[in-house]
Amino acid sequence: MSPVESQPHDGGCTCRHVRYRLTAKPMFVHCCHCRWCQRETGAAFALNALIESDRVKLLHGDVEVIDTPSNSGKGQRISRCPKCRIALWSNYGGGGDAIRFVRVGTLDEPDRLPPDIHIFTGSKQPWVVLPANALAVAEYYRSADVWPRDSLERRNAALAAKPRG
Ligand SMILES: [Zn+2]
Ligand SMILES: [Zn+2]
Repeated sequence: MSPVESQPHDGGCTCRHVRYRLTAKPMFVHCCHCRWCQRETGAAFALNALIESDRVKLLHGDVEVIDTPSNSGKGQRISRCPKCRIALWSNYGGGGDAIRFVRVGTLDEPDRLPPDIHIFTGSKQPWVVLPANALAVAEYYRSADVWPRDSLERRNAALAAKPRG
């Protein structure tokens, strides 16, 4: 890794009760333009860094886990600061707590994690113009088709190590 990549990615909520650290580079970063993410963020898209749960280290505070409906119907569990209620990361149904979707905007240096793919661009707000070379799909995609090999290996190991549910 370069010196820049070896710097940890630290983040937290707005009231600073929760502070966390990503102890590895995320496996992949999604920019999701689905209507559900638009509603949950109140904005045009959500930016999520996918990483193994055991590589998200709480440095301070604790999180409150809120069961929330999701587009898939399987639900998502959103971890929020119990004081200021900012959402820090989610787990989606099916993967259990093996992989977390960390809200990139809660990192101290979110600029370091630009999206690897834009998903659900079928509902992208029209004023959001993607770079010409951006990887983008109208809905979802198969990780095996897109992710780098080392990220796929990490993902498979995380899913194999934890019970699904
Ligand atoms: Zn807080
Ligand atoms: Zn979404």
